[in-house]
Amino acid sequence: MGNASSIEPTKTIFLDIDGKKEKIMFSRHCGTRDIHDLIAHAAGVSRYAEISLKDSTGAFVSLNPTMPINTQSSPYKVTSKEPSPTTESSNGDGEVFTQVLSQVASQFNNQFSKEGVFKVEEIKTDIATRLSALERKMELEGLKAVEIEKCKRDISDIKDQIWNAQKKFVDFNRLSNETQADSGETQTPSSLSDERKISLKRDVPSYPKYTLSQETIEYLKQPTFDIWHWEPNEMLSLLEHMFHELGLVAEFNINPITLKRFFLCVQENYRNNPFHNFRHCFCVTQMMYGMIHLCHLWEVMTREDLGILMTACVCHDLDHPGYNNTYQINARTELAIRYNDISPLENHHCAVAFKILSNPECNIFANVDKDTFKRIRAGITMLILATDMARHGEIMDNFKMKLEPEFDYKNKDSLDTLKMVLIKCCDISNEVRPMEVSEPWVDCLLEEYFNQSDREKMEGLPVAPFMDRDKVTKPTAQIGFIKFVLIPMFETVAKLFPVIDSTMVEPLRIARDRYEDMKEKNSMPPPPSQSNKKKTVTEK
Ligand code: 5GP
Ligand code: MN
Repeated sequence: MGNASSIEPTKTIFLDIDGKKEKIMFSRHCGTRDIHDLIAHAAGVSRYAEISLKDSTGAFVSLNPTMPINTQSSPYKVTSKEPSPTTESSNGDGEVFTQVLSQVASQFNNQFSKEGVFKVEEIKTDIATRLSALERKMELEGLKAVEIEKCKRDISDIKDQIWNAQKKFVDFNRLSNETQADSGETQTPSSLSDERKISLKRDVPSYPKYTLSQETIEYLKQPTFDIWHWEPNEMLSLLEHMFHELGLVAEFNINPITLKRFFLCVQENYRNNPFHNFRHCFCVTQMMYGMIHLCHLWEVMTREDLGILMTACVCHDLDHPGYNNTYQINARTELAIRYNDISPLENHHCAVAFKILSNPECNIFANVDKDTFKRIRAGITMLILATDMARHGEIMDNFKMKLEPEFDYKNKDSLDTLKMVLIKCCDISNEVRPMEVSEPWVDCLLEEYFNQSDREKMEGLPVAPFMDRDKVTKPTAQIGFIKFVLIPMFETVAKLFPVIDSTMVEPLRIARDRYEDMKEKNSMPPPPSQSNKKKTVTEK
C-alpha cells in the first residue's frame, strides 16, 4: 500500500466556519454528496443540512468536485441550515410534490385536449426528470423512506393516469376507424395500494339479504349454472350459501357476520378488469363447489381441506391488475421486483388474501386454533401459487405420477397435488360451461389480452402472439387451449372421478368442435352480398 495522497491528486479547500478555520481534502473520486458530507462534518451539522459557501467577495461558490481551490488566507465562509422537523419537512415537500403533480397533470391535459396529440414520451421523460429532482431534494432534506415511497406511489399513479388517457386516445382512433362500440372499462395497471384498499368501504347492513329458491340451491351445484344471471350482491349471497351448505361455517366456527364481511372485502379487492374480476372469482368458486358435489369430495378429504379449496378459489386472483406475469416481469413492475420474478401475481393475490384475513372483522378463521390456522394458511398459499400456468406441466406430471399404481388419499403429498389440480381445473373451466355462458368469457379474456399487448407495443416490450389483436381470433384462442390444456387435464382427473367424463370432458369436446367449425367458417370467403353489407356497416 503506498501513500494515497502521492498517487491520487487531492484538492484542498479552506473553510471559515463561524470564525473557526477548517481545512478539507478530497480526492478526484469524491462526488458532490461526499464533499457536502465532509463540510457538514467539519461544521458539526447533520448530512441533511443545507450548506452554502461564499468567497471573500461574497459570491456563492458551487459545491462540487470541480469547485475552485482557495488559500488559507481566503477561506470560503460556510453557512448551514438543518432541515425542519420531519412533520414540517414532509408538509413542505408535500406541497412541492403536489405542485409537481399538478403541473404534470395540467401539462398532460393540455396536450391531450388542445392538440389532440398525446406526447406521452415527452411527458414520461418530464416525469422521470421531475422524479429524480424530487428524490434528490428529498435526500438532501432528509425525508423519511416511507415518505419517499409514498411520493413514488403517487408518481406511479400519475403514470397510470397517463397510460389510461393514452389508451383512450388509441381506442378512440381505433374505434373511429372501425365504427365499433367499446364496452370495456379502461384499467389502471399494477400500482400497488394495499394500505389504501384493504379496508371495508361498506358494511354488512348495506348488503341485502336474499332468499334463494330451492331450484337455485340445486342449480348452484351444477357446472351448467348461469353465472351471468347474478348481480354482485346476489353472488355474495350465493358464496355465503356455499360456505354454510358445505358445513364450513360449522367446521371453522365462523361468525356469520364475519363471513359476510369477508366476502364484501374480497369483492372490494377485485378490480373491474374485463376478465380477472369478481365474477371470475365467483365462477371459479362455483365450479369448485360443483366439483365437490359431483365427485363427493367430502368422502375423500376433510372439511378443512374443502374449506382450503373454497377459500383459495375465492381469493385466487385478488387485486389482479389485468396484466399477466410476463408483463410484470418484462416491465419490471413493483410486483415483479417485490417477488423476484417468481409468480409475482399469484404471490400478490395470496398476500392480499392474508392481509384481508389479518383484519379481525373479516377473519373467517379467527376461531380456529393456532395449528389449524397454520395448516389452512399453508394450504391456501400452496393452492393460489399453483394457479400460475407457468407451472402447469410440472403440476400435471406430478399428479400423473401419483395416479400410478393407485392414488393414495391418505398420502399428504398426493392429496396436496390433487387439490392443486382441482383449483387449476376450476380456474380455467369456462369452456366446461354451456356455450351461452362460456362464450362471453372469451371476449372478456381477449379484451384483457389486447389491452396488454397494445400497452406492450407502446412500451416497446415483447408481445405474445396469442395476445396480439392482429394474430388471434376467438376460435384460434380456444381450439389449442381446449385440445392441449383443458381436455388432457380433465381426462386425467376423470381417471380418479369417472363422473367428470360426462359432466366436464364431454362439454369440452363439444366446445372444441364448435370452435373448429367457427374457424372453418371464418376462413371461407363471405358470399358477395354479405361482404357488401359488411362494408356498408363499416362506412357508416
Ligand atoms: P388465471 O389464474 O389468470 O385466471 O388463469 C390462468 C390463465 O389461463 C389465464 O390468465 C389465461 O391466460 C388462461 N386461460 C384461462 N381460461 C382460458 C380460456 O378459456 N382460453 C384461453 N385461451 N386461455 C385461458
Ligand atoms: Mn383465475
